[in-house]
Amino acid sequence: MSTISIIPFGSGSTGNSFYLEIGPYHLLIDMGIGYRRIRDVLAMHERDLSMVDAIFLTHGHYDHVKAAPALCNHTECPVYADQSVMFSIRSVSSERKILGMETAQILPGLKVTKFPVPHDFVQTSGYVFNYKGRKVGYVTDCGKMNDSILSYLKGCDVIILESNHDVDMLKNGPYPKQLQARILSRYGHLSNADCAETIRELSHFGTRHFLLAHLSLQNNTPEAAFKTVMERQDEEIDLYVCPAEGSELLNYETE
Ligand SMILES: [Zn+2]
Ligand SMILES: [Zn+2]
Repeated sequence: MSTISIIPFGSGSTGNSFYLEIGPYHLLIDMGIGYRRIRDVLAMHERDLSMVDAIFLTHGHYDHVKAAPALCNHTECPVYADQSVMFSIRSVSSERKILGMETAQILPGLKVTKFPVPHDFVQTSGYVFNYKGRKVGYVTDCGKMNDSILSYLKGCDVIILESNHDVDMLKNGPYPKQLQARILSRYGHLSNADCAETIRELSHFGTRHFLLAHLSLQNNTPEAAFKTVMERQDEEIDLYVCPAEGSELLNYETE
């Protein structure tokens, strides 16, 4: 038995950052939530930034990197990302390590797989963190699910997946048509219905724990996302909806 712990500090267009404990390691994914909030939430759970072993970035959109300079001034751990993302956070003082679309042994026992996700920032990526066979998948900012992404996520113990919008709410909502088209395009964001189908498929390969991420504040509600996903499942799953601002520590027991 071993525990995977996750804190969703924040998720959505106002900012994204997740804390992940897997095996002996403490990781951060994305840096779109301010330094003080992350420091305070970690302290609530008797943890602090100096414990973080490595930081991973998915892409360079502002909601994923805006706190990078402040955060990196308070940790000495390396930041792993694509070249295109490093360029957009060039003021950062931490050690920067280019990570291509590959599986790399980052720390003893920890393999990290970085893979491409279709989105309108060059070389947006998803991740699978694998510590001795215990696996956590992370895919947000994904215009369209595809077989390649599914193949990486299959068999993960816990998956954090985008459930950005309800298509009807988006089409009838306040966003201009051009922005609606961008979100709905294959380089935009994943809808509740697409997320539901993805989770259904992945549940057939054994995943039981899912976190819905990157919900739109204008074109979605936590209730709509939860309901859409739940009513399309044929396996029992455990579903958590990440709030726009979160401080909860989630623990997942794995075999
Ligand atoms: Zn994005
Ligand atoms: Zn985003």
